[in-house]
Amino acid sequence: MSNDVILTAKGLTKRFGGGGFMAKSPVMQAVSDISLEIRRGETFAIVGESGCGKSTLARLLMRLLDPTEGQVTFDGQDISHVTGADLTRLRRDMQFIFQDPFSSLNPRMTVGKLIGEPLEVHAPNLGARDRRQKVAELLQQVGLPAEHANRYPHEFSGGQRQRIGIARALASGPKLVIGDEPVSALDVSVQAQVINLLGDLSRDLGLTLVVIAHDLGVIRHMSDRVAVMYLGRIIEMGTAAEVFEQPRHPYTQALLASIPAPRSAEAPREQLSGEMPSPSAPPPGCAFHTRCPHATSACSAAIPTITKVGNSHSVACHRWQDIPVPEGQTAEPARSDQAESRFALYRAALAGGAVQHGPHE
Ligand code: SF4
Repeated sequence: MSNDVILTAKGLTKRFGGGGFMAKSPVMQAVSDISLEIRRGETFAIVGESGCGKSTLARLLMRLLDPTEGQVTFDGQDISHVTGADLTRLRRDMQFIFQDPFSSLNPRMTVGKLIGEPLEVHAPNLGARDRRQKVAELLQQVGLPAEHANRYPHEFSGGQRQRIGIARALASGPKLVIGDEPVSALDVSVQAQVINLLGDLSRDLGLTLVVIAHDLGVIRHMSDRVAVMYLGRIIEMGTAAEVFEQPRHPYTQALLASIPAPRSAEAPREQLSGEMPSPSAPPPGCAFHTRCPHATSACSAAIPTITKVGNSHSVACHRWQDIPVPEGQTAEPARSDQAESRFALYRAALAGGAVQHGPHE
């Protein structure tokens, strides 16, 4: 593994079910044979529809779940089955930002206690005074006043709570942070601010960021590389420019086409037809063939292997050479003018060293 690579997955597979005494429950293969490398300091996005296995993959990468098959290597160490002190060390270096800022913070704890808790575990020699100082610094780092340490989570808006969740994730000084849909529970006008904050923190702290999202518009401007998942498999992977501007897989093309045009109230150009099949009964061959406009009989005969189609661009489709790349493909987020001005205000405030909070946050 090159020193540029911080995390590697090889042949990662996760199956659930199959247990039961009288009648076995159906086996669901949530993640199938995934191999990827995440480079130090990059922002890597994993996208796909709900139920595609992206959250399970995130939990496997963080060692919150045991893989059924395959291996995860972090900073040169196989972490697939680590326990005890090794797992505690891993938790210091890899942190998680949860989707729901409303339920991920204990309502009975003050913000200071919530952010200070990881410090008690990972920096036990830090005295109470230094811990308070560190909590104040973390709050300021995420754009909240230090005095907020004495308040409780219910006193904050969704965007502010997610900032508290980010401060908590940063407390142990992690090398890698995984955000599972970190903005999808937030008001659209606040999403850009939190995305921007994550981008700035990743750059300033040299963090590696893995962002899980179902909305390609959300990750368009923050990710260096993107992996698109369908029914437990990566079906396309490449730099953000390769995936967004030259999508080769029909599923990626359909996802991009379903995003509304920028600054427009027009309906999306195209809707993806049908529903993703259940992971407990995947179709044979290419799992997308039940929805793919380019499918032929060969598509249901064999699972396509992921093939290199460009510099760092790969795709899993039998017919990728026959499928044209749509012209004018774009995935600009359709922000409202109000959100645009709030976004600009936030950028300006950050550059000036202080952060303004709008009425929705
Ligand atoms: Fe469509 Fe066939 Fe390619 Fe699958 S392998 S995406 S069904 S063309």
